[in-house]
Amino acid sequence: MMKKKKICLIHTGGTIGMTRSEDGYIPSPGYLRGLLDGIADLYVDGMPSFDLYELSPLLDSSNMAVNEWNMIGGRIAELYSEYDGFVILHGTDTMAYTASSLSFMLENLDKPVILTGSQIPLCEIRSDGRDNLITSIMIAAEGVVREVCLYFGGKLLRGNRATKMSADGLLAFASPNMHPLAEAGINIRYNQPIPIRRSGKFSFHPFSEVPIGVLKVFPGINFSLFDVVMTEKLRGVVLETFGAGNIPGEGNSLLPIIKAAFAAGAVITVCSQCPQGTVSLGAYAASSELVRAGAVSGFDMTTEAAVAKLYYLFSLGYDKEQIKRMMETDLRGELTRA
Ligand code: ASP
Repeated sequence: MMKKKKICLIHTGGTIGMTRSEDGYIPSPGYLRGLLDGIADLYVDGMPSFDLYELSPLLDSSNMAVNEWNMIGGRIAELYSEYDGFVILHGTDTMAYTASSLSFMLENLDKPVILTGSQIPLCEIRSDGRDNLITSIMIAAEGVVREVCLYFGGKLLRGNRATKMSADGLLAFASPNMHPLAEAGINIRYNQPIPIRRSGKFSFHPFSEVPIGVLKVFPGINFSLFDVVMTEKLRGVVLETFGAGNIPGEGNSLLPIIKAAFAAGAVITVCSQCPQGTVSLGAYAASSELVRAGAVSGFDMTTEAAVAKLYYLFSLGYDKEQIKRMMETDLRGELTRA
């Protein structure tokens, strides 16, 4: 008889395990265990066995950042050899940020790490959590995809390519620049994977608290208002530009700010406000100046992946030239160079 696979289920908070309160849904320690015990299908023959770990405190994912990413990554690293795969229950709001962060923290990962959650809590009749949870556990046990991914609404997505697309729909996530890794219909159908480079043994790299900023360009933006923040306070900036990497106006005040920020050790990465497609610096005069000022292209990276990658590279202690180079290099399948 084949040995039952063992899955590590880590509950971090989020809607899936929340309970009702007078103030709306809240996370509640110990509550998920009872909900899982009520899902008989989790314990039938053919399902892997699983152990449940609960992080403390359980959080709405809007409160999660570096500290919590380190806790989740640290727990996976600690238990890495004991399990065949990992399923992380997480709030949907920042799930794509956590998935991106874990993809960088967990180097040479060779086991499935699947983040999932739900839009409707498991305690409600119409919860989408039941399928998300059961299918994530099955995919983690199958072990076909051995990277950080996000399963939601029938789609398995590369974690650092995923983004939350809907605030209330049950098909809440997409990866607009990469086809899903798998689709779960009547059967789970895996697509041809785009491999991630692995070289060496699994290792875990926690992040440090690095001052990172995201600046979304809009028509009429007065860049000088952001001068001090960008030149003195931040080390990494993701600039969400129009289309293929364009910023408003000739002779605008952004370029000297970028030059000064770069001189002060900051790295400015240009991403697009369009969910689909790639930044192509130099395609228009409006973006050529950005390169001369010292900015780098984020190509088709999501903002979530670019933020996580900046944390990662600064945490490893690289200098700004190395970081510039690595921001434009595919490290974990997060970007495709045009
Ligand atoms: N606010 C919740 C969270 O991100 C939403 C959810 O889980 O769907 O934790």
